[in-house]
Amino acid sequence: MPIFGRLLAFGAVLALVGCSASEAAPSPPTPATPAKQSAPASSAPPVLESADGRTGSSTPPRPGALPRVVNHGPRTQKRVALTFDADMTDAMIDRLRRGEVASYANMAVLQLLEKRRIPATFFVTGQWAEQYPRELRRIAANPRFELANHSYEHAAFTGDCYGLPRVPADQMTRDVEKTFRALAPFGGRQTRYFRFPGLCHDKAALRALAPLGVTVIDGDVVSGDPFARSATPVVAAVVSKVRPGSIVIMHVTEANAQYTDEALPLILAELERRGLEPVTLSELLSP
Ligand SMILES: [Zn+2]
Repeated sequence: MPIFGRLLAFGAVLALVGCSASEAAPSPPTPATPAKQSAPASSAPPVLESADGRTGSSTPPRPGALPRVVNHGPRTQKRVALTFDADMTDAMIDRLRRGEVASYANMAVLQLLEKRRIPATFFVTGQWAEQYPRELRRIAANPRFELANHSYEHAAFTGDCYGLPRVPADQMTRDVEKTFRALAPFGGRQTRYFRFPGLCHDKAALRALAPLGVTVIDGDVVSGDPFARSATPVVAAVVSKVRPGSIVIMHVTEANAQYTDEALPLILAELERRGLEPVTLSELLSP
């Protein structure tokens, strides 16, 4: 490929993913593995099925069963789940320490959700919890917000996941367990939902999480808010894809998703216009 073509391709990948190896930040918009609702017994791959159905945190999956991977909720009800990832890689911590960025906590997003009384689910990394305990306490204290697990340091659970450093195979279970332990003291509405960094997972990664009784949440609406250059493409990405049952992926990482708070009111207005009610993931996935 000519160099110009290479540059274009590289740029396209970065734009799609929203992170690079050096920044290695938010959950990129990979088209995720579709959640298996059900499949014929003869051909059903057991990997995506678990005992819990789509019942959310109220009836957690049986520990030991392979985690169920959920991409969206029921399409029959006009409800959607707004989810916000709180990534925190080692590279992001370094940038904070060097003073290159001011904050990876988007308080404007939080204030807007609070003021408008919008339910939301936050996928928090252990390292974000360590950086922003005060902010996380505030999230946990809100009865409309749920907490979920987004790994400890936002490292990849598969090879070739947008340049993210990789969690060693024998450390995967421990990483997710450690994150649950880091989040637990904050109280509030804790769940057993887990989102893989970069949405990257394979059979081995799912198998590693089997003892933990988690439900893996991907999502069907990727906002593309990381590294967006204005609110416009973020709003467009969400409103063009959102529909009943959708799980919308956004970020609360101010420094690398700085237009999320600007996009959110426009997204909420469009949801309202279409009669799509934001609910927590547990509510979306409850029968
Ligand atoms: Zn992420």
